[in-house]
Parts: sequence; C-alpha cells; structure tokens
Amino acid sequence: MAMKITDDCVACGACIDACDINFAISEADPIYVIDPALCTECEESGGDPKCVPNCAVEAIVKA
Ligand code: SF4
Ligand code: SF4
Repeated sequence: MAMKITDDCVACGACIDACDINFAISEADPIYVIDPALCTECEESGGDPKCVPNCAVEAIVKA
C-alpha cells in the first residue's frame, strides 16, 4: 500500500508539499522518491493520494 515515483519524474518538487501528514516524499538524485514505509496512499485522508494531482507528468503511480 504505497505509491511510487517513476523515471518520468522531472524533479520539479511539486509533489512534496502534498505529503504534509506522512512526509513520505523526499528529493533524491536524480529524481524524487516515496518511502514505502511512510506512504499510506493517503488512507487517513480518504484514500485518494494527494500527491498525484500535483504531478504534471503523471510520474506518481501505485507501487
Ligand atoms: S499517496 Fe499520500 S502518503 Fe503517499 S506519498 Fe502521496 S501524499 Fe504522501
Ligand atoms: S511532481 Fe512529479 S515530476 Fe515533480 S518531483 Fe514530484 S514526481 Fe517528480
């Protein structure tokens, strides 16, 4: 039960602020990453991943 960031990521940083409860997203080299141990797929907010709509290149998908 976690989302992941694919190679399509352009490291824009637009997703990171969406994860303001679990802080699962971090900047890595060369792309951003989601820690699967922290990502709940936003279960506590209704189960609709809040980071996904922030990503203009659709790089956040179900792991
Ligand atoms: S789905 Fe929710 S918990 Fe998981 S990385 Fe995105 S915003 Fe964070
Ligand atoms: S919003 Fe998308 S492209 Fe930007 S850092 Fe996050 S995953 Fe990468």
